[in-house]
Amino acid sequence: MERKTPYYVIDQKSLDDNFEKLERALKKHWSNFIIGYSYKTNALPWIIRHFDRLGCYAEVVSEEEYRLAKLVGVKKGNLIYNGPIKTKETFLEAIRDGCIVNIDSEREIDWLDELPRKNRVIGIRVNFDIERMCPGQSQCPEEGGRFGFCYENGEFSKAVTMLQEKGARVSGLHLHTSSKSRGLDIYRAIAMVACDIQKEFRLDLDYVDVGGGFFGGLPTKPQFDEYIALMADILSTQFDKGRTSLIIEPGMAVIGAPVRYVTTVIDVKDTQYNRFVVTDGSRTSIDPLMSKSSYFHSYERSADSSIVPKQIICGYTCMEHDRLFEAIEEPALLPGDRIIYDKVGAYTMCLTPLFIKYFPDVYVERDGVFIKVREAWRPEDYLMKSILEE
Ligand SMILES: *Cc1c(COP(=O)(O)O)cnc(C)c1O
Repeated sequence: MERKTPYYVIDQKSLDDNFEKLERALKKHWSNFIIGYSYKTNALPWIIRHFDRLGCYAEVVSEEEYRLAKLVGVKKGNLIYNGPIKTKETFLEAIRDGCIVNIDSEREIDWLDELPRKNRVIGIRVNFDIERMCPGQSQCPEEGGRFGFCYENGEFSKAVTMLQEKGARVSGLHLHTSSKSRGLDIYRAIAMVACDIQKEFRLDLDYVDVGGGFFGGLPTKPQFDEYIALMADILSTQFDKGRTSLIIEPGMAVIGAPVRYVTTVIDVKDTQYNRFVVTDGSRTSIDPLMSKSSYFHSYERSADSSIVPKQIICGYTCMEHDRLFEAIEEPALLPGDRIIYDKVGAYTMCLTPLFIKYFPDVYVERDGVFIKVREAWRPEDYLMKSILEE
């Protein structure tokens, strides 16, 4: 049966092989570990269930993601709850259930009053000056990061004191830092900050959570073994591998590479200026933040054709800027040819708007067999929660 484009394909073997490399690195360097899969990176239900089956915790940052984890069957407690927008009800429930919860704001400290003292066990997200430690690599060089309690200005220390006054135990540090570079320097800095805090505060930590933000599945970039070895070396100067777990929260590194997006050329037109190749895919489906200037791509052509100087590959959205890339001095693309974009699993499906067309099909490819794991949305699905006449 011919599959209708556009669609995404998850290559299960490459997903599982890559995940195994990650696990191997952790087992080797810090065998007492937890992997939390970052829901926000791609929360397609098949994917979050798959990572649950691989033994990951669900790393969630909203009430919706928290409840989604429960709906897909994540076991009570196998959940890491982060971020500044938790709701009080789910925050308290998560702590009661023994989840890993990292506070991001003072209001969460107040919420602890509603729990018996023995249940007041909590991790703290640390805000620290990553730009100073890794110049040019942080996401907000001028303005600084906005998550967690600031270490340098004393807010972190204040939070620890407030927690101690409530009889709460600080059980973990959360140091997730998204960066431009995803480089090893970032993780050296994270491990060093964890050690500095440990020297200063002498906390009895169940875990150090270094967050996500790694590369994965790209041979030219740092490998899991390098990231983990580097951090283990530093962390082991202050933490006992038997006592304190290492938590990582990958998203991009585990779901970016194994996903492709398959599109078809539907028309080719020449204007005075250019040759435009119209496809049934869209930039919004592989680059919703419109931030990339090139894409891993390949072709499946139906016939030989002659070389043309320039072709501009465009998407379906009827917006001028839905132009994906330029093919320079390449064979002419013809209607029916396929353009396949590779490594598009992170921050794509979950950020695609319901714009002009709706969510496409998603398949899992396993041993050469394609299994549909999400049916494309139809207009009927789009209408689902709407009221046409009040
Ligand atoms: C976004 C995020 C992650 C995952 O980041 P990736 O870059 O997708 O690996 C992990 N932890 C937290 C707290 C996040 O906000």
